[in-house]
Amino acid sequence: MQKQSITDLIRAEILALSAYHVPDSGKMIKLDAMENPYQWNETLQQQWLENIQHAALNRYPDPAARELKQALRTTMQIPDGNDIMLGNGSDELIQMLALTFSGDNKILLAPEPSFAMYKLIAQVAGMKYIGVSLDKNFNLDMFALLETIEAHQPSVVFIAYPNNPTGNAFSISDIEAVIETSTGLVVIDEAYSPFADHTFMSRLNDYPNLLVMRTISKLGLAGLRLGLLAGATQWLEQIEKTRLPYNINVLTQMSALFALQHYDIFQAQTQQIRQDRATLLSALQEHENIEVWESQTNFILFRVPHATALFEGLKAQGILIKCLHGSHPMLDNCLRVTVGTPEENQAFLNALENLI
Ligand SMILES: *Cc1c(COP(=O)(O)O)cnc(C)c1O
Repeated sequence: MQKQSITDLIRAEILALSAYHVPDSGKMIKLDAMENPYQWNETLQQQWLENIQHAALNRYPDPAARELKQALRTTMQIPDGNDIMLGNGSDELIQMLALTFSGDNKILLAPEPSFAMYKLIAQVAGMKYIGVSLDKNFNLDMFALLETIEAHQPSVVFIAYPNNPTGNAFSISDIEAVIETSTGLVVIDEAYSPFADHTFMSRLNDYPNLLVMRTISKLGLAGLRLGLLAGATQWLEQIEKTRLPYNINVLTQMSALFALQHYDIFQAQTQQIRQDRATLLSALQEHENIEVWESQTNFILFRVPHATALFEGLKAQGILIKCLHGSHPMLDNCLRVTVGTPEENQAFLNALENLI
């Protein structure tokens, strides 16, 4: 028998996808991925090493990650009566949600432009994806959004709050209207909550169809890969069925628990980053041929006359940011820079000065 070809074996949705590309940053100043630029001091590193040196690497991790969950409940102020579940990054939680709600013509809806993974994961998991464009100021286009929700009754709506890559936080009353209009689930993705003024976590008990997602990545622990989903047990007990038993490894459980015991350090760092964001924002605002948007995240979106050339120019000078040109019609000539240390931000501004 002749072997089947790749196109016989793999469904059309997968063949049509392009894999998510992460560039190799080498020795460059890395301002492309919303990482916290600060490492731990010597003392903390030593304490952490002592903490993990007796890790039972021969054993499977606690599948329920009980101790870590308890610490997260306190730190993230999960309201009583709600459950939490953990993912290997919130990316994995998006995947579990998509797997749980996938099925013939089941729909995942999100505003656009937003986090690229919603669409990619929906397609991989076999859900239909619908994107609804934001308005020209990157706010929710409420007329189009509510109309599409009513017409298509999506199983899951994802709202990044604040939004990536635009950096703004949508209007609270607009989001409330989305939750009230949706007959399915609404997931508020609060990846940037350490840098934002408001949260929906405290609203979980107001809305039975609301889930709130968080991650420790942008806080300063991207390497650990840990995200969490909070909400009513009736939803989480279903989503848990798609979770692989040991998705949070021993070292992540121990290290995240250790880090949460030193949460004040992260609060000081994110506070610093918020201040430096203001400095970077006003420096960018001084250029008359740069359009720049306010941010409630640890990055800034800006538009220049020739984004690709500027991006390449910065790269040639050892500075890696994110070029969004071509990723969505509303992001023509847009770039996204992560707020780094004051020195990194200055290096970025100096390089920019020579190129623009
Ligand atoms: C970075 C990001 C995530 C993914 O976070 P991980 O926990 O690192 O997987 C999720 N949502 C948004 C909006 C993000 O920007």
